[in-house]
Amino acid sequence: MEIFDMREFDAHELVVFGHDAATGLRAIVAIHSSALGPAAGGCRMWPYLTSAEAVADVLRLARGMSYKNAMAGLPLGGGKSVIIGESRKAKTPELFEAFGHFIDSLGGRYITAEDVGTTTADMTHVARATRYVAGLGAAPGAAGGDPGPKTALGVFLGIKAAVRFRLGRSDLAGISVAVQGVGGVGYHLCALLAAEGAVLSVADLRPAAVQRVCAEFKARAVAVDELLALDVDVLSPCALGAVLNAQSIPRLRARIVAGAANNQLAQGQDGAALQSAGILYAPDYVINAGGIISVAREYEGGASEAQVIADIQAIPARLSEIFERARRENRTTNAVADQIARARLGRQPHKLVA
Ligand code: NAD
Repeated sequence: MEIFDMREFDAHELVVFGHDAATGLRAIVAIHSSALGPAAGGCRMWPYLTSAEAVADVLRLARGMSYKNAMAGLPLGGGKSVIIGESRKAKTPELFEAFGHFIDSLGGRYITAEDVGTTTADMTHVARATRYVAGLGAAPGAAGGDPGPKTALGVFLGIKAAVRFRLGRSDLAGISVAVQGVGGVGYHLCALLAAEGAVLSVADLRPAAVQRVCAEFKARAVAVDELLALDVDVLSPCALGAVLNAQSIPRLRARIVAGAANNQLAQGQDGAALQSAGILYAPDYVINAGGIISVAREYEGGASEAQVIADIQAIPARLSEIFERARRENRTTNAVADQIARARLGRQPHKLVA
């Protein structure tokens, strides 16, 4: 595997492979940039079919974390980790403790937390072996805990900013939103949207998750392969990455794409296809920073939940600035965001920035 030549490789500072024979741990940590502080980003557990697939994912995710942390003004660099395995079958406390030892061996260069496939409970096992972990349980009123609801709050406020910019509306009453994935983030997002009168359509691979949001928030259930093509005001991808690609974009009928999923654009140029179709795209790592803001405050220690919420309330203004600048300069929103983030990291503009 030629890591240095991979498309996803972007002068990452460190890529480390960790293995523990006793627990079967196979993990990779990637640090993209530590220019702004120790690298922070969650740990994804996923049944990657090949190591190359896992490396590509961790590289892409780590870079996304550099951009996200820089954009949110956090004193953190960007990194990410993956554990290769099926999260519903291969999890054991020992596996996560072994992962904690692996993280600890990096001496604080990388701070982990939960991501897709891992939970607050898993992080408590990690914390037995290292202090470089956040996203643990929090006392009432204190910063921390599951980052999902905080991510949902940032996405909700970001959707409102996008609706204001693209549709000229300051409220969500009657605004139609299609949510792809109603898991940790999507569920809480639906709760916030429904409370403001948005009309919800939802899809998820897990029928029970769909039934819950339909029952609690009067959402309409839609088949997974139909959701992306719905004629709605807002499409909110809250499942996995690369949903915006050459095949899906021509099918989209939404006016706005604004969701929690990381790496929504399969490639940088997909942002141009969205722009040409008149679709306003809220760059993923700007709108979904609520969780890492919470993790950062928790890790720093002594912060309250109210402070976390106040920090998250800065997300819509950040997005509005990107929307305005993209319109003024006739550029894509993702190119504008990437340029701002890379400048903060002291990196040259990326070759995909247009
Ligand atoms: P999750 O695993 O709890 O939920 C994801 C849901 O999407 C699951 O219910 C899953 O069944 C569903 N899903 C998967 N593929 C789907 C498909 N093709 N169509 C419809 N549904 C599908 O994960 P989460 O914590 O809610 O995170 C969602 C996304 O947001 C991920 O991309 C994650 O990286 C990103 N994100 C999460 C956070 C956080 O704080 N949890 C922060 C930033 C970004």
